[in-house]
Amino acid sequence: MRVLGTYAHFLYFSPMTNNKKIYTFNIFLVSLSVLTILLLLVKFLGDIYIERTYYLRLINATIFFLNLIILAAWLFFGVIASVICLTIAFIFTLLAATIAKSPIINMHLILFGLVMGSAFYYDKKSNASIGLQQAELEDINEELNLLNDERLQNQLRLKALEKSFSRFSILKDITEKLSSSLSLAEVANLVVKNSFSIVSKADCCLLYLIDEKKHNLILTSMRKSQELKRFKIEGADGFDMRVLKRKQPLIIQDIRKDYRFDYEVIKSKTREFRSLISTPLISEDRAIGVVRLDALNAEIFNSEDLRILNIIADLGAVAVENAHLYEKTEELAVTDGLTGCYVQRYMRQLLAEEIKNMTESKNKISFLMIDIDHFKKYNDSYGHVAGDIVLKTTARIFIKMAGSKAIVARYGGEEFAIGLPGISKKEAAELAEKLRRKVEERIFYLRREKTNVTISIGVATITNAIKDVNYLIAEADKALYEAKNTGRNKVCIS
Ligand code: GH3
Ligand code: MG
Ligand code: MG
Repeated sequence: MRVLGTYAHFLYFSPMTNNKKIYTFNIFLVSLSVLTILLLLVKFLGDIYIERTYYLRLINATIFFLNLIILAAWLFFGVIASVICLTIAFIFTLLAATIAKSPIINMHLILFGLVMGSAFYYDKKSNASIGLQQAELEDINEELNLLNDERLQNQLRLKALEKSFSRFSILKDITEKLSSSLSLAEVANLVVKNSFSIVSKADCCLLYLIDEKKHNLILTSMRKSQELKRFKIEGADGFDMRVLKRKQPLIIQDIRKDYRFDYEVIKSKTREFRSLISTPLISEDRAIGVVRLDALNAEIFNSEDLRILNIIADLGAVAVENAHLYEKTEELAVTDGLTGCYVQRYMRQLLAEEIKNMTESKNKISFLMIDIDHFKKYNDSYGHVAGDIVLKTTARIFIKMAGSKAIVARYGGEEFAIGLPGISKKEAAELAEKLRRKVEERIFYLRREKTNVTISIGVATITNAIKDVNYLIAEADKALYEAKNTGRNKVCIS
């Protein structure tokens, strides 16, 4: 009874589960139960209440219904479930034919066979179509994989393009900077800084330039990674000399495995590194230096890195030569381009000669060291061009007022120096005061505004040839320092 109760409960609540499989199972059980009851009724009650033919119709209908259930079982549970259902239905049908004593019921067995046959046929067909779909799916998957591969390759290509773009924009930048730079130190710094950043994997970048007087390589600029900060880097090693002598670039992937070099010998002679690229700076077929990148790890550089380093080295070589030429030209120049005064170096030469030629009668040389007061502020307020005009004008005042024998020089920046052969300290001080006043009175009109500058002057004099140019300059400088420290716009005498 309890079993029946549980089953009834299950049947009652099963629709709420909304599960087709459970429905099918229940309907199957219900049909079997109905069939069993019908068979029991037909066996034990016969024609007592209802006519036998009605029972038989109901039995036939229930068995027919089983067909549908077998189909549903196949649909929801698969082939095995439908075969089990079929077997049970088969047994019940045989039983029904025997109990109801109606062999015609066995006709249902043919229907079962037909149902199962068509189910198998359909199953096979749908399996074939699933196979076809799977093949199609595999094709699509393959295509997807190919597309993915292509996408990855495109991404890599894009990355490579981005990298070369950034490298070429750095190269463009360095070309512009190098072509506008005339200082050797600046050129060297640019070469090293850019090589280090463009081939970003290096731990150390060094630039050696040939010292023409000493005939050896001088470390002119360098950059190191954090790892190498504590290492002191000395002169050029065998690799640099090899690159210089052969005038050929060098790439070493792993110094420990490179058959061209004996690692044990190298280890004792040079600092720690595993890989290296190095290339000479060539100018008119002469090697004028070496730029080198090395790294603590092996396999760091590739031929593309070396190619880039070669380009930088070529640009650097031209810039280094230009800087050398500029230095030489500067050495040859005697007058300053802006003011027309002598340059300091030439003034020293002339003064040295004057000191050498001092005689009993011509035994004094005075010297004025002049500095424009707060000139930075003037530049900041009125601009560099206005500053230049002031420099030119004050220089003209000095040249005009100092006399024909005076050696008027631009000492540097906004500093001037005047050598006064044959002039005594007193006369020099008077001249200085005149100059100071003249400059102070000179008005510069800027943006409808009246502006002026003042100067501070230090005066020094030597009266014998024992003292040299440096002494004269140092003394005047001391006096100038005093003038600056005691209020500016004044003349101080040493
Ligand atoms: P101080 O009174 O102590 O001498 O102050 P200062 O501002 O004159 O001195 P400082 O040395 O700080 O500044 C010198 C300024 O001279 C800075 C620089 O801009 C300017 N200067 C140097 N050379 C030139 C030049 O060729 N043209 C112009 N316009 N300015 C220059
Ligand atoms: Mg100054
Ligand atoms: Mg000044």
